[in-house]
Amino acid sequence: MTPGLRQTLLVDADDTLWENNSYFIEALVRFLDRMEGLGQPRQIVERTLRERERARTRIGGYGSLNFAASLEETAEILLGTVSPELSSEIEALGRGIYDHAIELLPRVKETAATLAGRHDLWIVTKGHLAEQLGKVERSGLRPYFKGVEVMREKDPDSYAEIIDRHGFDLARTWMIGNSPKSDIVASAAAGLQTVYVPHRTLWELEEASMTRPPTLTLVTFQDLLLHF
Ligand SMILES: [Mg+2]
Repeated sequence: MTPGLRQTLLVDADDTLWENNSYFIEALVRFLDRMEGLGQPRQIVERTLRERERARTRIGGYGSLNFAASLEETAEILLGTVSPELSSEIEALGRGIYDHAIELLPRVKETAATLAGRHDLWIVTKGHLAEQLGKVERSGLRPYFKGVEVMREKDPDSYAEIIDRHGFDLARTWMIGNSPKSDIVASAAAGLQTVYVPHRTLWELEEASMTRPPTLTLVTFQDLLLHF
């Protein structure tokens, strides 16, 4: 990287700028507890849910409301019928994630403010459009970013589309995020340089999928200031 040259930094949001996955894990544990109380072994509930999620994200994408729909389907498959009480409990689990207060990761605000003075920052996230835009607004980080892209899927084609649309110069554009698959491998395949900032809740399974190593690996978001 040429020192002093303004870079374009595309920054993932969930579990890079703020907490996210931990809310899904909490909701999952509550669902597993509830289903266990109804005689359903946790392992079977979890396996059924993962199958439903895989199928549903292809149609409905990512996000807490689609997650709740997967929980509901799982309950229906395993229990035969879902009582109105259970149904509203499940809906509340999804809503609880959707409306959750934003908890920024340590030193994110100060780091984004400093970086915004040096470089062009964009939020590049995936998920449910209204849900993701709502989180950006509530985060208070919007002023530091030139724009926000909510992708349906973070794959090489989607990255190529936004690179093309905004005319990003590949020689000085970076994707920064916590997900090996969607932030690092997919963006590298589209020609971007990458910065991997792992989050503590990352699944070990995902780690193994780093088929293209990141340009940089950092411990915390704040460490970006040492490089940019
Ligand atoms: Mg993420």
